[in-house]
Amino acid sequence: MDSTRSDALVIFGISGDLAYKKIFPALQNLARRGRLDMPIIGVARGTGTIGALHLRMRASLEEHGGGVDEKLFAQLCTQLKLVEGDYAAPATFGALRRELADAKRPLHYLAIPPSLFSTVVEHLGVSGCAAGARVIVEKPLGRDLSSARTINHVLQSVFAESAIFRIDHFLGKEPVQNLMYFRFANAFLEPVWNRNYIDHVQITMAEKFGVNGRGKLYEELGALRDVVQNHLFEVLTMIAMEPPTNIEGEALRDEKMKVLRAIRLPEERVLVRGQYTGYRGELGVAAQSAVETFAALHVEIDSWRWAGVPFFIRTGKNLAITSTEVMATFKRPPQRLFDEPMPPRMNYLRFHLGPDRVAIALGARVKAAGEVLAGREVELFALNSQADEMLPYERLLSDAVRGDQRLFARSDAIEASWAVIDELQARAGDVEMYAPGSWGPQSAERVVQRVGGWHNPTPDSVESDTSRAPAS
Ligand code: NDP
Repeated sequence: MDSTRSDALVIFGISGDLAYKKIFPALQNLARRGRLDMPIIGVARGTGTIGALHLRMRASLEEHGGGVDEKLFAQLCTQLKLVEGDYAAPATFGALRRELADAKRPLHYLAIPPSLFSTVVEHLGVSGCAAGARVIVEKPLGRDLSSARTINHVLQSVFAESAIFRIDHFLGKEPVQNLMYFRFANAFLEPVWNRNYIDHVQITMAEKFGVNGRGKLYEELGALRDVVQNHLFEVLTMIAMEPPTNIEGEALRDEKMKVLRAIRLPEERVLVRGQYTGYRGELGVAAQSAVETFAALHVEIDSWRWAGVPFFIRTGKNLAITSTEVMATFKRPPQRLFDEPMPPRMNYLRFHLGPDRVAIALGARVKAAGEVLAGREVELFALNSQADEMLPYERLLSDAVRGDQRLFARSDAIEASWAVIDELQARAGDVEMYAPGSWGPQSAERVVQRVGGWHNPTPDSVESDTSRAPAS
């Protein structure tokens, strides 16, 4: 890893939505930690002024950054420069080159629509702005295997792979990192974390809200492309990968890659796609749209550790609550000694990945007090705390400035995950409608019928107790 710190940060799309919601707040936090000792150059088309950009940054910090720290704001205003111009015009990049002055290792953040990536990357190369530089690109990286390959090819024609940072902000989240930490920092899990003891795994990412005015963008994606290909496959790799030999360099990304390559879709129907009633009336959505706002799928991982263990993945918008959880259910005890009704899952590990809190809980049965030998369920919390001390974008930007790629996706992993999505798309049936506030279309239950149904996270699935009755 080349750990030379970047000495200039260039943000293409400084006037955009991502900069407003995520990047300015991350910059203020980085400045607070003393990790932003470099000029920041915003690039935008249009005819704004630096004063207008300052006002926008202030509004962003008020709305999304937990408030304006005046001292840090004044510092950011001094650091922030603006280059304006058309992304197709060489003059824009000439101006950027001048603004970069003698920076040796600039970091270019492409917070722009993917359709502009190629143009900007090519101009960065031709203008000399890419010399010694790093580049951050935003998800989604393509919309299928073929377009992902094209983008990777364009990026790699100008930047070395070691200088390309493909962001998936999910990886910068504390709870997601905790998943991996918990697995590999504890010896007790390893003997049981395999096909001999795990019956099946469910990953649910539910959102209580719809497309929130992003209908036009969402029409290009749908749930599979928007979150399964990136966020949920990342979570899958964290759960399923082998221990890396170390967490430096490429070892971690190599292990994740092996999982993605080992994903297999079973022969039977593996995918249910849904669309919430009312989606077609959203701004920017086609009247007859067949885009899915919900997906439930079944994959298997063909590896020594996981052969035969089903992994069920589910995501959707306008569902009952907002919650992301992983539920790994253990096999039942071999003998049924106690004569009592059994719940669908007796022992499990539940990882709550958000929002707000991070929790790791172990589900077990204990004897209920009284005369008979009958049990009740309890959950033991290994962890239950506030989710993020650091914003994901803050962590990832800080890593990219130091050249640390561990939390960024590699080209081969992106392509392997798109290959699975392409196969799923090829086997997709029609979208089925579901009512907002529900858990998706009825037929999603069929995907998990043989394991007793979905685990539906509940609002009270994170509490401060160390032991309590389970969520569901
Ligand atoms: P926006 O639509 O807000 O556009 C970002 C910037 O690109 C703006 O500065 C805009 O300039 C400029 N732009 C848009 N179209 C053109 C064009 N045809 N020519 C020149 N400039 C153009 O996008 P977002 O900020 O929402 O997203 C940026 C990237 O981040 C995308 O890749 C997106 O997929 C990704 N992303 C966004 C998230 C979000 O929450 N917004 C979340 C995760 C990823 P102008 O202001 O002048 O229109």
